[in-house]
Amino acid sequence: MSVAKRLCLAVAALCVIAAILLYTLAWPAWQQQLTERESIRLAQLQAAAIPAAPQQRLNHQQLLADLNWLAHPERQGRKPGTPGSIEARAWLAQQFADIGLQPAGSDGYLQPFTVRQHFSLSRWLRGKTATVPAAENAANVLGLLPGLNPNLKPIVLTAHYDHLGMENGELFAGADDNASGVATLLGLARYFSEHPLAHPLLFVALDAEEGGLQGAVALFKYKLLKPEQLAFNVNMDMLSRDTNQLLFAVGSYQRPWLTPLLQNLQQQSAVKIIAGHDRPWYRAGNTQDWTLSSDHGIFYQQQVPFIYFGVADHEDYHTVRDTADKVDPDFYAQVSETILSFIQLLDQQLKPH
Ligand SMILES: [Zn+2]
Repeated sequence: MSVAKRLCLAVAALCVIAAILLYTLAWPAWQQQLTERESIRLAQLQAAAIPAAPQQRLNHQQLLADLNWLAHPERQGRKPGTPGSIEARAWLAQQFADIGLQPAGSDGYLQPFTVRQHFSLSRWLRGKTATVPAAENAANVLGLLPGLNPNLKPIVLTAHYDHLGMENGELFAGADDNASGVATLLGLARYFSEHPLAHPLLFVALDAEEGGLQGAVALFKYKLLKPEQLAFNVNMDMLSRDTNQLLFAVGSYQRPWLTPLLQNLQQQSAVKIIAGHDRPWYRAGNTQDWTLSSDHGIFYQQQVPFIYFGVADHEDYHTVRDTADKVDPDFYAQVSETILSFIQLLDQQLKPH
């Protein structure tokens, strides 16, 4: 072996040793430091969030009635392709028609698609069978509300209506996840149909979010939506309960211009808004990054600016205990009012001046 080769081998061996040392000694301490810094940042944000007076522009009774209908045992947990899901989607299309939204699917209000069987790491980590089964008969539901300015691109409002269905004879009702987001989607459609904005609003109830965001993928995969023709995505997933009465707004890290808008929003919101859970691991340590946690992740990947509103995971998340009686009606109503205010502020902000 030549001297040069020996030298190369020695350097490589040293590099491996250094990497192992760094990984075992420095890395955990660095991660810990980042995590602590992030939790201090979130605590500071929480302390700075001062709730405003409650609002009532939406019909709060209707919100709860719609949430209850979707989370009712007759819907059987709205697993893609099941009778409960098909009933839910037909009902949603009927609601869109009654509100006066224009059909915006590939087949009336619907965009039918097939859920492909695939491996799900998150299911596997939760001790379930790792395979998400195929479903022939999935569909997104889309309705368009024209804006006052026909030249503007639509703001897309999304909430997934599917949930886990029945497992071993037990019902996963998915009241918070995500009957709550869909009921708010309907409430917003009713409100804005009577108080139109400059931007068109595209209301989308997505299927097959659980285990792979496949409903959101289908929007772009089959070119029903083109990213460059969209102004913004507002995603709603889990809005109806939180012991600390906190609402997370995810996405201002990626789009810093949202920060002043969120500060403005806090001044008219009766819940505490925390901007967070959108920092990558090398900025936030072990604090979860929710950038890809729900359907907004697909809009993010398509380079459509987004915000995601949702509560922190609770002890009933993805269990049989996520039922409608656990909903906090006052908190849920004010979260919905907050998202209404956000869309109004966004409409102003995105408008050409
Ligand atoms: Zn969800």
